Amino acid sequence: MSTTGYGYQALAPEQRDRFARLAAETDRRRTVLDRYVERERGFAFPVRSGEILRITCCDGPQVCDFNAFAADDPSEHFWSGRTRTLQGAHLSVGDRLWSTEPKMRPMFTIIADTVPHGALPFNAASHDLVYARCSASAWRLRFDRDMPNCNDNLTAALAAIGFPASHVHDAFNIFMTTGVDDRQRLFHLEPEARQGDYMELHAEMDTVVAVSCCPGGCSGPENKGLQVTVFAPLDAE
Ligand SMILES: [Zn+2]
Repeated sequence: MSTTGYGYQALAPEQRDRFARLAAETDRRRTVLDRYVERERGFAFPVRSGEILRITCCDGPQVCDFNAFAADDPSEHFWSGRTRTLQGAHLSVGDRLWSTEPKMRPMFTIIADTVPHGALPFNAASHDLVYARCSASAWRLRFDRDMPNCNDNLTAALAAIGFPASHVHDAFNIFMTTGVDDRQRLFHLEPEARQGDYMELHAEMDTVVAVSCCPGGCSGPENKGLQVTVFAPLDAE
């Protein structure tokens, strides 16, 4: 049976070469921000056009729920569904993160991913774009009790910079390893990521990013912190 897609958005060869160079030239960068985000907490911060955001599993495997906004108009934000349609259900190097209508433009391009991608059941893969963020309501539905969650982490992180709770949106779940089984049900596995693994995202516009160290039990036996680093390439200055 043949299949029809939606037109995978591959980078042009010259874009691929440029991003490969930016990822390789780690000695030609200035550090703009370097921040440890504690386990079960969130953090919001600006990432300007041309800067590179690195998110590192500094303590071991840890899923990072990622939200992003246009710095000049937060009603334009990361669009999980459109990105899934254009790039796929799991993202890696060369994939771009797209914003909402009416602009629908690339917000970030993934330029580095050190996670080893192995053969997993039902083609499960790392860096999930399928699962919704965990929330107090979802935990009450499943476990009938209140638990720490990404929705609250992202809400608190954004409140600290003056964004309302309604700005929290479906996340890109970096380092989360997920799949769809033969009954079309979602499942997650322990992350393929190991301590020291990181992903780098190149900002295509001025943004505000919010991250959550997911407390939802998808990171292995214990929840951990994440290191967030923003670099400015020296060539761009
Ligand atoms: Zn979560």
